[in-house]
Amino acid sequence: MAPAIAQTLLGALPAPRQATFGRWRDSAGEIIDTGIAIFFPAPGSFTGEDVLELQGHAGLIVEALIDRVVELGARRARPGEFSERAFLNDKIDLAQAEAIADLIDAGSRGAARAAMRSLQGEFSARVEATRAALTHLRVYVEAAIDFPEEEIDFLASTELAERVEYVRRLLDDVLQAARRGALLTRGLTVVIAGRPNAGKSTLLNQLAGYEAAIVTPVAGTTRDPLRVQLEISGVPVELIDTAGLRELPAGTATSTADAIEAEGMRRAREAIARADHVLYVIDAAEDPQARAYDAERSSLPHGVPVTVLMNKSDLATDDASDCSPPAAAARDARHDGPARIALSAATGSGIDALRGRLASLAGHAEAAGGSFSARARHVDALERGARQLDAAIRQLEAKQGELAAFELRGAQASLGEVIGDVTSDELLGHIFSSFCIGK
Ligand code: GDP
Repeated sequence: MAPAIAQTLLGALPAPRQATFGRWRDSAGEIIDTGIAIFFPAPGSFTGEDVLELQGHAGLIVEALIDRVVELGARRARPGEFSERAFLNDKIDLAQAEAIADLIDAGSRGAARAAMRSLQGEFSARVEATRAALTHLRVYVEAAIDFPEEEIDFLASTELAERVEYVRRLLDDVLQAARRGALLTRGLTVVIAGRPNAGKSTLLNQLAGYEAAIVTPVAGTTRDPLRVQLEISGVPVELIDTAGLRELPAGTATSTADAIEAEGMRRAREAIARADHVLYVIDAAEDPQARAYDAERSSLPHGVPVTVLMNKSDLATDDASDCSPPAAAARDARHDGPARIALSAATGSGIDALRGRLASLAGHAEAAGGSFSARARHVDALERGARQLDAAIRQLEAKQGELAAFELRGAQASLGEVIGDVTSDELLGHIFSSFCIGK
């Protein structure tokens, strides 16, 4: 199709991979545009098919040119269609195709660099190496099953234990890297929570560097979670300010103001549940023991890490700003409890320490070096693979070779999903439809 269109539009098919200047004409012979045409014959093109690239002028002319090639038999590409064809023609694997979309959508330079590494195939190569090691392990176990009289010895051998250990380490490494990559790709979501008037909005403004939130001395100004995008250590960070959390006074729950406040709190809790990290702001002048966090702690979702911010340090007495941990933090300290930072959102003192903390949470991904972009889909598949490997290890310990081989096959398939060996049309449709047009 591309060569035929080139013949008509350009008058002749350009020599392969050579920039060829020309005048492009409509059906009446009128010049639509002038520019450079490059012809990439199959299979040496991005998609693996014949591709004609036209480099002309911008604006309405582009539409006129597209109309002309459509008239000659082409059609407009669907979102992601070029990448999809490249995938279907084995030019790239699925993780690389996804990296193209991640590269285009990258919210920070760190994310763009990571996506480029994935596009170059670094992530796929790590997954592939892990899968190859899994395959060797499975073949080894299956060989044991084929010789039942030796199976028990085989399954108890140190060589097998070493192979299992090796695969486990490869899979753990690639899973950790994918988790960091997923964080880089989608960014870190940080929710600011705390009692009304603790200084949450002031903190958001301080971190954002402008008046993103309205700050008033009246409690309960923030109803809807307010979102601000920042970049910390090359990682996109979404900072969300939420309505203050407090016990609503009993008996007045029917008032409109209370209903609105209750709704604000409900949305705040929703945002907290989805957060990667919570900054719990305490008015340290009023609550030097951080009792507000103490009271709230049990209702915060399990597994969402928290940093307690002792705010208004400019007002706090010596007592409040000393380093004796608040009651809850003291208890938590015995179980990796939350870090605590004294700061003043109003004056900015201590904000650098907070930035450093966020950088270490977010920048972890970049600092680890050589990270690649990854998606929740990849992390899910690798986690499933890790669970299947665990199950296989348990079966090996129980000397159940058949069952272990079954689990190893499952783990292999899970890793195959990352690079697109095992895919459904539905999954492909979902992935490529999220691309921007034509990419
Ligand atoms: P929110 O309800 O938690 O969002 O609290 P705001 O950010 O609206 O702050 C409530 C009040 O506390 C406002 O009058 C702020 O100016 C004040 N405030 C916030 N942070 C500080 C601080 O670090 N020091 C002092 N002195 N006042 C603060």
